[in-house]
Amino acid sequence: MAESTIFQKIIDREIPAKIVYEDDRCLAFEDIHPQAPIHLIVIPKRAIASIDDLDEADEPLAGHLLFAMRKIAAELGIVDGYRVVTNCGRSAGQEVMHLHFHMLAGRRFGWPPG
Ligand code: 5GP
Repeated sequence: MAESTIFQKIIDREIPAKIVYEDDRCLAFEDIHPQAPIHLIVIPKRAIASIDDLDEADEPLAGHLLFAMRKIAAELGIVDGYRVVTNCGRSAGQEVMHLHFHMLAGRRFGWPPG
């Protein structure tokens, strides 16, 4: 069996996290090494490694995650923009192999990203 990721341990409440949003399919919590005043990690509760591991049946879940982020932004009063990033694969910078979206806000962001 594949080893449980750190995010799975957060879902299972085996390790603590500052959870800011939860519903039946997803969870959002503060990143432990924030890169902006607001830096959240938004994940599906089901263990999916990355965008590359989504299948067609996951399309509603993928949409649900986007709508959850929109809801979180509204609930947190983020009115001045936010950035959503997902790293897919090691070369893109993915370290935790559980699909996640970084939601960053509270400062200006440059483009292109590093
Ligand atoms: P990745 O590089 O995989 O796209 O992003 C993984 C993110 O997870 C990083 O921003 C990192 O700071 C965050 N992270 C890693 N371990 C933990 C942890 O134990 N708790 C929390 N809250 N975030 C973590």
